[in-house]
Amino acid sequence: MDRRWIFGDQLGPHFTDDADQPVLLVESRAVFRRRRFHRQKAHLILSAMRHRAAELGERCRYVESDTYAEVVDHTRDRLSVCHPTSHTALDFVRGRERVELLDARGYATSMADFRAWTDARNGKRLLMEDFYREARRRLDVLMDGTDPAGGKWNFDHENREPPPKQPTLGIDEPWWPAEDEIDEQVRHDLDRWERDGDVAFLGEDGPRRFAATRTEALHALRDFVEHRLPNFGRHEDAMLRTDSWMAHSLLSAPMNLGLLDPVEVVHRAEEAYRASNAPISSVEGFTRQVIGWRDYVWHLYWQQPRNYRSRNELGATTNLPKWFAELDHEHVDAACLSDVLRDVARHGWVHHIPRLMVLGNYAMQHGWRPAQVTDWFHRAFVDGYDWVMVPNVVGMSQYADGGVMATKPYAGGGAYIDRMSDYCGECVYNPKVRVGDDACPFTAGYWAFLHRNRDKLAGNQRIAQPLHGLDRLKDLDALLEQESTRGSRAP
Ligand code: SF4
Repeated sequence: MDRRWIFGDQLGPHFTDDADQPVLLVESRAVFRRRRFHRQKAHLILSAMRHRAAELGERCRYVESDTYAEVVDHTRDRLSVCHPTSHTALDFVRGRERVELLDARGYATSMADFRAWTDARNGKRLLMEDFYREARRRLDVLMDGTDPAGGKWNFDHENREPPPKQPTLGIDEPWWPAEDEIDEQVRHDLDRWERDGDVAFLGEDGPRRFAATRTEALHALRDFVEHRLPNFGRHEDAMLRTDSWMAHSLLSAPMNLGLLDPVEVVHRAEEAYRASNAPISSVEGFTRQVIGWRDYVWHLYWQQPRNYRSRNELGATTNLPKWFAELDHEHVDAACLSDVLRDVARHGWVHHIPRLMVLGNYAMQHGWRPAQVTDWFHRAFVDGYDWVMVPNVVGMSQYADGGVMATKPYAGGGAYIDRMSDYCGECVYNPKVRVGDDACPFTAGYWAFLHRNRDKLAGNQRIAQPLHGLDRLKDLDALLEQESTRGSRAP
């Protein structure tokens, strides 16, 4: 029998073929030396890999090595590997004659099914909504015969409410795993590597928050479905200063480590709906994230040309400032940005709206290089991988692909953040003010962004109204002068 080589994001049982198959796992220090990852991300990945090796026992050959090549090119075993999750890793595997490359696992839609779907559309109008409906039908998820459960495909309009007027959603915190001796060893090793000057990390160390084993991942899934899913959805686009987790599942981390399969995840959610334990709007919103968005992003990563990652249609050329790159939240006065950076420093995780409408929005408004922003998101988030971050940041967040993924730039001023969060009341800035000492950096940044990109966005009907709004701004010159002097300083 061949030995299954598994990468650090292929750790679930579905990445091997049977209970006896021997496994190869390579822990490469060079991966951490090359890039400055969040400390808790490095911890999570190493902990998950070492836990998997411990579970597999003698079935697993676990090698600590500088590079993959040192191990893979010198093993006597016949190796097979499931389709890796980055172009670089795929190139490496394809360059090895003795390694058999298998189809991808851990996604709800296979590459063949995605190809059939795009071929049927001649590669045009590849809308996420259509892709998601097709996946629901094919997988028979939330379907009543040929009709969508609840009578509608999409419950988004019920899932976009602003936050309630209270400091938290008032629901139980997520379930947290307990660290064990493997975590202790990981912490010890990371401390030593850092002390030796071998690697450097971003963010704070802290208790491991995310599942590192299949058992923990199933526990986290069960806990979410039972206690938090019924509250998921309604406020999924809202932000609360003292409630970082709200009703989000936090399951992206174990799913992206390969510890949970997305289809089993949505089946559990559907069971809760069928048992009347969670409303359709919650379950549909969650299902859309898991077999809709997650898979759509995965397939776009492979479907787009290799140079997609370096697209920069808005010509953004400013380097990421140090305060942002290093999560220096203490020197940021803007309440929303400071709080979100602090959460990233503390946990390596914030939910999709702070990522998109605070961090990504600020980066795009200020013309930061999309490739640097992508790299930062990849390194700073526990669930960030190349396939996740390239489409999400280049396409969705920075509009650097010129509209392949998003129909308009996700740019918003302070009014948006004020409506969807409780940050502004605590802030030294005023979301309604564009110019002056208390001018909200998001509001001013929004107009400066539109002004700078006016010609490039002129043909986009979805942004026509705000572009017209620019002409009505009497203080535009003062605003542009103010923003040019603010430059890359922390707001
Ligand atoms: Fe953020 Fe502006 Fe609101 Fe302050 S006023 S919290 S900077 S949106």
